[in-house]
Amino acid sequence: MNKILIANRGEIAVRIIRACKEMNIKTVAVYSEVDKDALHTRLADEAICIGPANSSKSYLNFKNIIEAANITDSDCIHPGFGFLSENSQFAKICEESNIKFIGPSYKVIELMGNKSNAKELMKSVGVPVVPGSDGTIKNVSDAMKIAEKIGYPVILKAVAGGGGKGIRIVNSPDELVTNYNLVKQEAKISFNNDEIYMEKFIQNPRHVEIQILADEHGNVIHLGERDCSVQRRNQKILEETPSTAIDDKIRNKMGEAAIKAAKASGYTSCGTIEFLVDKDKNFYFMEMNTRIQVEHPITEMRTGIDIVKQQIKIAAGEELKIKQKNVEFKGHSIECRVNAENPMKKFMPCPGTITGLNLPGGNGVRVDTAIYEGYTIPPTYDSMIAKIITHGDTRNEAISKMKRALEETVIEGVDTNIDFLFEIITNPNFIRGNFDTSFIEKEILNNK
Ligand code: ADP
Ligand code: ADP
Ligand code: MG
Repeated sequence: MNKILIANRGEIAVRIIRACKEMNIKTVAVYSEVDKDALHTRLADEAICIGPANSSKSYLNFKNIIEAANITDSDCIHPGFGFLSENSQFAKICEESNIKFIGPSYKVIELMGNKSNAKELMKSVGVPVVPGSDGTIKNVSDAMKIAEKIGYPVILKAVAGGGGKGIRIVNSPDELVTNYNLVKQEAKISFNNDEIYMEKFIQNPRHVEIQILADEHGNVIHLGERDCSVQRRNQKILEETPSTAIDDKIRNKMGEAAIKAAKASGYTSCGTIEFLVDKDKNFYFMEMNTRIQVEHPITEMRTGIDIVKQQIKIAAGEELKIKQKNVEFKGHSIECRVNAENPMKKFMPCPGTITGLNLPGGNGVRVDTAIYEGYTIPPTYDSMIAKIITHGDTRNEAISKMKRALEETVIEGVDTNIDFLFEIITNPNFIRGNFDTSFIEKEILNNK
């Protein structure tokens, strides 16, 4: 592995460049016209413009990215998260172009990328799944029958969905027709695939996911769980590990189920199996993310394992050196996603120039970001601008560190959700570990 082209931008591109530098691997950044002065463009050994701001013409542009890899003699492409990271066609084109796609094989991406097929596979190997439709729903009357059978409320989801989009809860038959059409439309627009499936809506669940590493020699290990129940509109805002929702017995069972899931799909690379945990501590497979995830740093803080480096080593064909019994879990870690948005204005994104900046630091604080003073956040991409991660011996210590880290943070020139994050981290029920996926809606937004 000589040179890696990073087909992404923002903090995750910077995160990957950092791992490469530490591994003595050369890096190539690709950037859109609006990202000429972005940090990833500046930090990489080489940088190539791949098109205009609009991501369909740049960060999603297969042809230009492959060409950039060829011109720069890059032998690998790291897709990061979002953009092309779960695009099986792109992974296939990489393979055909003799470029190693840093991720699982395109066949596995295709298999797990269809959330309904992924569930069927899990069911067949005995991993518990959320009860729901057998495969996709054909039409509204089909949907009515299935909903009647599993019982309301149900949830409609796009098979190709991601990023919290293409999901809707249905409480009664009346709501079904409207929501069916809405999800279909949204799925068509967002994912160019209008197939949908149905699940029982699990009441007040926790979202608990397991990080895995799988090499190309059949070794699979897990790096424990992450609790991502603090969500707004099915999108994660704060994540922590370990989860306060499960005990060691369930933790081990979930780890084993995740390994079984990875083996059943022939998975290689890093990946995450997402589960829902209900009030009675039953867990159900929800989906697999076949890529590096936003919240991977909390697992790194707790295990001391660099997941991106492991991902690169696996792509190079190396055998995993870490055995399950050698994975050590230390302390507690929390991540807050800092977004350039205004919580008082329905979380409207707030791009603009950063005129003043103070990022937090000190013992047990890590910041993954690509912003700097004078940087202009373009309006074109995701509004996440930084991740603040803390690590302490105990959960309370990690919380105290997060509280003071948020207090130290100053971002001038754009609106951010820092105060909103502060409200979460200081909320008594959050501190007690007493929350579920409806926490933000009920505890934070309802009090406004
Ligand atoms: P994670 O599971 O790592 O927390 P998120 O769901 O927050 O990931 O998504 C990370 C980024 O990828 C976000 O910018 C999100 O909008 C984007 N994303 C995730 N899945 C998809 C998808 N299927 N299609 C388009 N964008 C996606
Ligand atoms: P995405 O691909 O967008 O990440 P997921 O299928 O992972 O979509 O679901 C996103 C979130 O939606 C979950 O973390 C959970 O909070 C909620 N959710 C999904 N399915 C269910 C369900 N069956 N019951 C209750 N909540 C659900
Ligand atoms: Mg998900």
